[in-house]
Amino acid sequence: MSYDFPKATSHLPSAAKDDLIVIAGAGGFIAGALVAYFKEKGFSRIRAVDKKPVQQWYRVTRGVENLCLDLSEEPNCRRAAEGAVELYNLAADMGGMGFIETHRIDCLRSILINTHLVEAAYMAGARRYFYASSACAYNTDLQKSPDVVALKESDAYPAMAERGYGWEKLVSEMFCQEYWAERSMPTFIARFHNVYGPHGTWDGGREKAPAAIARKVIEAKLSKSNAIEIWGDGTQTRSFMYIDDCVKGIDMITHCDALVATPINLGSSELIAINHLVDIAEGIGGVKLARSYKLDAPKGVAGRNSDNTFIKKTLGWEPSTTFTEGLTKTYRWIETQVADRAAGKRTVE
Ligand code: NAD
Repeated sequence: MSYDFPKATSHLPSAAKDDLIVIAGAGGFIAGALVAYFKEKGFSRIRAVDKKPVQQWYRVTRGVENLCLDLSEEPNCRRAAEGAVELYNLAADMGGMGFIETHRIDCLRSILINTHLVEAAYMAGARRYFYASSACAYNTDLQKSPDVVALKESDAYPAMAERGYGWEKLVSEMFCQEYWAERSMPTFIARFHNVYGPHGTWDGGREKAPAAIARKVIEAKLSKSNAIEIWGDGTQTRSFMYIDDCVKGIDMITHCDALVATPINLGSSELIAINHLVDIAEGIGGVKLARSYKLDAPKGVAGRNSDNTFIKKTLGWEPSTTFTEGLTKTYRWIETQVADRAAGKRTVE
């Protein structure tokens, strides 16, 4: 079951290289990479916005206008969207399972960001609006077995999203869909499945499994403890998308007219059990660790994978970086972060 939204009947205009692109959440992991991606592609006017002070952003790209604004407030959204030709909303209060299962109210409050930002984009006359949704919008009843069948786009309804975070995503998706249906602003929605890579959160409680496991292996080696604690029993499965695939996918989705107001999976279809993730991280680190399982830790749904039938059919493309390749780069980057922290330098966390 899903709703029928109108399709685009004529070509929708995109931003030219000197038009203003606004990227919200740019102090964080994915939007920080998206700013760098568009700059690299030759866009000369990019406005990056985040509520964190610029000194705390994970990445700062030269030649970009950086604004520190809390986008849960409506006047700040109007300021952020002024003159925007395309607007990408990746701002949200979020983290891995340890965060979203214990901060449901904070997650739900991100509804304010999209609610004000989509209206501000509309008032500014933006030509395309992108919203970062999540696989957590899917019906959790379909994700109770580690041998999960991959989730396809229609599996969000009937709705039983992840409490807190998933519902915020589902309702924000609907806002975007109605701004197209009622007000003709082209909106694009990707449901990300776990994203990882260099410049992502790797410590402090908001990190996700690939970064957390890589860090634990690095720390076990350094401390010579030769032990690792794993959340859950290790049989949980997920798919993990490397950051380069994610930003490329955002660009392709936002510039595909056939996808207007149509949520689409953006994830890898390579299914990885957490125990296997630990095997790979141990292989990269050249160690074998004694595993203990923390069974009462937050672990989320038992299994989840991305069904990429629709994205392959629509874009002729899907995220393709193998997990071993992506984790190797991520592991090496976290190693340098751990060393920098030990040396008293500023790090991303
Ligand atoms: P992140 O936490 O690294 O970045 C989010 C940024 O939003 C942060 O820098 C934060 O300061 C900012 N922010 C939060 N509240 C704000 C506010 N009120 N005003 C302005 N900025 C605010 O997260 P990320 O991993 O880069 O995720 C980006 C988007 O992708 C989010 O919407 C997230 O829900 C979605 N997503 C991410 C993943 C993933 O695996 N990383 C998976 C599914 C969906």
